[in-house]
Amino acid sequence: MATSSSDKHNPISSPPLQDRVAIVTGASRGIGRAIALHLASLGAKLVINYTSNKVQADLVATEINSSFPGSTPQALTVQADVSDPSQVKSLFDIAEQFFNSQPYILVNSAGVSIAKITPVADTSLEDFDRILRVNTRGAFLCAKEASNRLKRGGGGRIILVSSSIVASLRPGNAAYAASKAAVDTMVKILAKELKGTGITANCVSPGPIATDMFFAGKTEEMVEKAIDECPLGRLGQSEDVAPFVGFLATDASEWVNGQVIRVNGGYI
Ligand code: NAP
Repeated sequence: MATSSSDKHNPISSPPLQDRVAIVTGASRGIGRAIALHLASLGAKLVINYTSNKVQADLVATEINSSFPGSTPQALTVQADVSDPSQVKSLFDIAEQFFNSQPYILVNSAGVSIAKITPVADTSLEDFDRILRVNTRGAFLCAKEASNRLKRGGGGRIILVSSSIVASLRPGNAAYAASKAAVDTMVKILAKELKGTGITANCVSPGPIATDMFFAGKTEEMVEKAIDECPLGRLGQSEDVAPFVGFLATDASEWVNGQVIRVNGGYI
């Protein structure tokens, strides 16, 4: 019996992201790492991006490749600073060349925050510039490159990791929240601009997630407060975010487009 096009990604016959190339920025650690591992479990071929932490990025690639023994590796690592246009371009170049295929999926999880809660009055211009440079300029450059280079005709996905802080508006995080609010706005316009390409664009906005970024500069009391503020009575884990990103990456999510989706256990 002939296979219809609707059967092509039938989860019963094949994994939903079978052979689709996914670039995940900031995948050496934290949320990006969990997303990369999850997309690989859905069949995607992974580009594990990092900026300085080669050892941890290599561990992620090794974990994926050891689960898919075969002649061609399922994952490779690429160092690139998302705030540098030539490095972002080269990230896509390497992905295409290595897998000999146009990428379908870009997940921008690379991000930085302030070392400790600081009001606007005490935030240095250096911190403000650094945060906007990576979080906003980086998301812009990755989204721009993805808009030009992801596969056309269906299945193309741009997923930008933002933050629930845009809505929770906690004092001491203005520069970080502003850097993510810009991304939320950008994605809504980007989705419309991508009309006719079959590429969707969305933001996923976690609440507090137990990663290096969350724990940096926090006292035990601050951690307890974050737990207390969550209706589910715990901190989020990277693995709480990854399956939702996995859904967005598949064909099943096509009708979700231009949205900012908070994945935060009811935190806000
Ligand atoms: P994390 O554990 O600190 O990891 C940050 C990741 O980003 C690392 O892989 C790091 O690479 C990479 N990175 C940093 N600067 C980069 C640059 N210029 N170019 C390329 N990669 C860069 O952070 P996380 O908690 O997983 O955060 C991931 C995303 O979720 C961020 O966008 C963050 O804003 C967002 N988020 C986090 C939380 C939370 O509570 N954790 C909540 C809401 C939203 P290296 O390992 O090489 O340094």
